[in-house]
This record gives sequence, structure tokens and C-alpha cells, in this order.
Amino acid sequence: MRCLLLLPFLFAACQAPGEVITSPLVDEVKSALESTRSEAPRLVLGEEPTMPNGARAVCYENYIVIMGEGQDSLDFFLAHELVHWYIDDSPYAGLPHFIEEGLADWISCEVTGVLEARIAESVQIGTLSIDPRHLSVTSAGWSHLSRGEREALTRAGFDLVRRLGLAELRELLRAHSEPWGYVRAAGILETP
Ligand SMILES: [Zn+2]
Repeated sequence: MRCLLLLPFLFAACQAPGEVITSPLVDEVKSALESTRSEAPRLVLGEEPTMPNGARAVCYENYIVIMGEGQDSLDFFLAHELVHWYIDDSPYAGLPHFIEEGLADWISCEVTGVLEARIAESVQIGTLSIDPRHLSVTSAGWSHLSRGEREALTRAGFDLVRRLGLAELRELLRAHSEPWGYVRAAGILETP
């Protein structure tokens, strides 16, 4: 009898939190990435104790969290996190993480209609000088960077996506390029 009573609690503990996302952005991001992932993402609005320092949104293994600060630009952050959700089952799986972040911003801007404005901003800023050691940061190491470092790397990744284009990104990925390979292919001079 005791076991039967426990079952509903166990079931609740196994289920991912949040609600299944019904936004049209889900299909738009999935098709932009040509992803084959069929599992529907779930969304939690609110804080999570394990959120990286200064993060406004995070894509966990089985749900997405967007906290208060990110909810002012809900569609942008949702589309960005949906890229992380779908990318592992797409032709873009395995990009250097900072370029995945840049691609997430690129697709997010595209599906929310602000890509032109963001490209103009990116051209104006130019390629940022970033710490070369950070180019090989993994998704696990990403959360240990400061918010400023993450933002600088994401802008650099966006600039690389702009310069290379999606077809070239996929080609470099197929050739198993190192992070510097993308930088060189984009015509950005390597600094000593
Ligand atoms: Zn991201």
C-alpha cells in the first residue's frame, strides 16, 4: 500500500518541470536548424538555483528556463535557447561553443525580425579582440565565465556567422576545424 502511494510522487519527480512551449518560434527555429529532434521543449519562467552567474536564460537537458530579466525580451531569449535545444540533432552540432552562441543569436534575430538591425550593429562594432584561450571554451566551461566574457564571445561568434555564412560554417564543421580555423576562414587576422 505504501508503494502505491509513492507512485504519483515518483512520477511527478521524473517529469520535466514547466509547460510545453506552444509558440510558433519552436517550429521556426527547428526548421532554420534543419533539426530532427522530436522531443518538445518545456518552459519554466522564473529563477533556478543552478543558473550560471548573471544568466537570463538557460537550456537544460529537458527544459528551458527564462528568468525575470530575460522576460522583457521573451521571444528573443526563447528563440536563442531553442537553438541550444535543437542544435545537437542538426547539421550544426559540434560547432565551437562560442560560435554556437553566435548562431543562437543569429537565428533568434532572424525569427524575431531584428536580424538587419543586429547585423548593422555587429558591422559597426567590428570583430572584438577576445582572449584566445576562451575560443575553445566548452558548454560546460561557458557557465564559469562572467556575463561580460560570455557576451563578448557571443558577439564574436555572431560576427563569425555573419562573415562566414551558414553554408561555410557547415563545411568547416565537416572538416573538423579547430576554433582558430573558423577565425582564419572568416579573414580575421590571427594575433600573436
Ligand atoms: Zn546561449
